[in-house]
Amino acid sequence: MSLSDNELPRTEDEWRVRLSPEEFRVLREAGTERPWTGEYVDTKTPGVYHCRACGAELFRSEDKFDSHCGWPSFDDAIPGAVKEIPDNTLGMRRVEIRCARCDSHLGHVFEGEGFTPKDTRHCVNSISVRLEPKQG
Ligand SMILES: [Zn+2]
Repeated sequence: MSLSDNELPRTEDEWRVRLSPEEFRVLREAGTERPWTGEYVDTKTPGVYHCRACGAELFRSEDKFDSHCGWPSFDDAIPGAVKEIPDNTLGMRRVEIRCARCDSHLGHVFEGEGFTPKDTRHCVNSISVRLEPKQG
């Protein structure tokens, strides 16, 4: 279920009424859910993960892997779905990832950790996405 372009909220107040308080805190205020608490940490169900705010397709279950970091982790994103923004808050040099369509916060991306051959970990808050299981 994807919002059409003219349905996309334009202000934070419009987002606030659409999202739960916790969804709003993470997606629109770049919050982080506590590790191991998200609903998709260990999920193996085949399907596509959509942006919880706007419904855009972001990640595929084939790219999900066990990082043991406490958040769902993907070594790739659907091309063009995610944008990367340097984040130097909390005294760390990190790269924030946001939905390219609605600019909602998803998590951070890390490289060079050696988890998978692609050597990239998109560390995503469960509450930022919604899994649409594959049919059949
Ligand atoms: Zn979105």
